[in-house]
Parts: sequence; C-alpha cells; structure tokens
Amino acid sequence: MSKYDGQGYIARVMPEVYTDGEGIRVSVYVSGCTFHCKDCFNASIWGFNKGRQFDELVLDEIINYLRKPYIQGVSILGGEPLQNLIIVNPLIKRVRKEFGQEKDIWMWSGYMREYIERDPDLKDVLDQIDVLVDGPFVNYLKDLSLKFRGSHNQRIHYLSNQQ
Ligand code: SF4
Repeated sequence: MSKYDGQGYIARVMPEVYTDGEGIRVSVYVSGCTFHCKDCFNASIWGFNKGRQFDELVLDEIINYLRKPYIQGVSILGGEPLQNLIIVNPLIKRVRKEFGQEKDIWMWSGYMREYIERDPDLKDVLDQIDVLVDGPFVNYLKDLSLKFRGSHNQRIHYLSNQQ
C-alpha cells in the first residue's frame, strides 16, 4: 500500500490522439487530483471516483488500441497519475510486457521531477517511463502556444534513449 495508490478510476480512454505527446497516441485520463490548480483544463475529473473502475477489461482495451502499428505509444494524464498508482503501475507493466520499448510511455504530473525522485514509490514509476511533463498548471504562466504543456513552469523531461 502506498499513499499514492488512489481509487483506481479512469475518466476516459482515447484511442487516437495527436496532441498528448509525439506521434499518434492512446491517451488514458485517470480520475482524481488534489492539486486543484486554478483554471485547470480537467477540473471535471478532480474527483477520485469519476468514470469507470480500472480493471482487466479496460487494460485489454488500452493494449488493443496500442497494437495498431501507427500508434507510437501511450500517454497517461489526469487527474494526477501519481495519485493513482493502482492504475499506473499495472498499466506500465503490461505495456512493457506486450511491447517492450517499441511503444513509448509519456506521463503528465503535477509533481516536480525533483520531488518524484526523492520518493521511492514515485521514483519507481519514473524509472519506467520515457517522458515526464512535470509541474502544476500555473494560470499566470499560461501560454497556449507551448507544445504538450499549458504553462511555462512545466517542463518536458526525456528520460530514456527512446526519444
Ligand atoms: S495537477 Fe494537472 S490535473 Fe491536477 S489540478 Fe493541476 S493541472 Fe489539473
């Protein structure tokens, strides 16, 4: 058990997305986030029990979407993925089991990379993904022209040799 486990609800799964990272991607939006950033784009899924329970069927659905050859990888967003480890850990494990490094894994988190690296539960996730976009959305630093992020404080970390 970890304080970051969450309740395991998925707000939505989108099979072909062009804006959540590089290439055409499957996007998985988990439910629940305690950061409550002002003017968050996804405030409707701050609650931890929105949508449907994550289970083997949902996981199979995500994996099947990923099998399409033109899908580059999976993007995990929210909500806050790192407050939903009971989704994120099995999802990452299954993606790696099915595809190895062939499909990349991007994640958006309100936690800063430095914080994540200091916590063993979270660091474990960091070690397995390819790209982290970190930091909360800060309204007064908002810039709609930024790629893959909403405000200037957020950073894109390429963590693996995949990119
Ligand atoms: S961390 Fe992300 S999902 Fe959570 S409130 Fe901030 S912008 Fe919204």
